[in-house]
Amino acid sequence: MQWTTETLAGDTEGVTYTLPVLRFAGTDEGAPTAYLQAALHAGELPGVVAVDALVPKLAKAHAEGRIRGAITIVPACNPVGRLQYHFGELQGRFHLGTRTNFNRDFPLLPKPDASTLGPETGTADQRLKQRLLALSLGHDIVLDLHCDDEGVAYLYVPVELWPAMEDCAAAMGVAAVVTWGGSSGASFDEASLHPWLHAQSDAEGLYRLLVARGVVEDAAESPAGRFGGLVAPITHVDVVTAPRAGAILFDVESGDRVAKGQRLATIVHGPGQPDGSTDVIAPQSGYILTRVSRRSLYAGDDLLKLVGDAPSANGREGALED
Ligand SMILES: [Zn+2]
Repeated sequence: MQWTTETLAGDTEGVTYTLPVLRFAGTDEGAPTAYLQAALHAGELPGVVAVDALVPKLAKAHAEGRIRGAITIVPACNPVGRLQYHFGELQGRFHLGTRTNFNRDFPLLPKPDASTLGPETGTADQRLKQRLLALSLGHDIVLDLHCDDEGVAYLYVPVELWPAMEDCAAAMGVAAVVTWGGSSGASFDEASLHPWLHAQSDAEGLYRLLVARGVVEDAAESPAGRFGGLVAPITHVDVVTAPRAGAILFDVESGDRVAKGQRLATIVHGPGQPDGSTDVIAPQSGYILTRVSRRSLYAGDDLLKLVGDAPSANGREGALED
């Protein structure tokens, strides 16, 4: 178990970012290896606290000689975004200097070889992406821990890796899987209301997967079983937006099944006035994956994600959102 610190020069003199990295050596050269990173979108902290809860489990496994495959963990992988506090709010999704999403525009290498990356170039966010890719290359299992707004826990999986990631879904106990194909804008992939409550179960799920895949040996760990949740292509995801600005009253929660035409929410835009509210109707039958945690929105803001039983009218391949 070894902590090291990666350093990344800032874009102005006198600024240096640091990036702690934790490595566990494996006892078996032939065993699968794993890489985990959290908070690439710097405000998405459930993955960070899940890693915090996972590390003691791995340290115990290491002390008992049960880490078979090497494990690399970057618990908070985006110090560049972490710095971007403005007027008391963290802006951790887009790099302010380049207006680029921290989870887009990673280098797309021709082969999994860090030497093809070349010397790090560009702005701090671009060099951070090159560094994270270099750290992850060579591992058999790469997990990028993100979160959504309010919602059920779900996996976002390249279609090529399904059903190979079914054990991950079952181990994590997620409610749904969204598979995506095509380009996501070169993604690698809001804080939860109760991140510390989620951390332990997420850590148990991550550990269960590492045991199931043979990275960690633990005969006492029960197998993950079969994944029984929803699996749907990303083209079925309806991002339902608010037709008016106003206060939001939701009729549905994450995890609900809804029928086409069912009221999902009411937007109160003229409180106390006749016709002062507008209903938002389900465009098709399906499953509520997430809803926003805010209760005051602009017109056109995303309200919720509905995984439709059929392809969505606004469905798209690649990244789930901008
Ligand atoms: Zn994210």
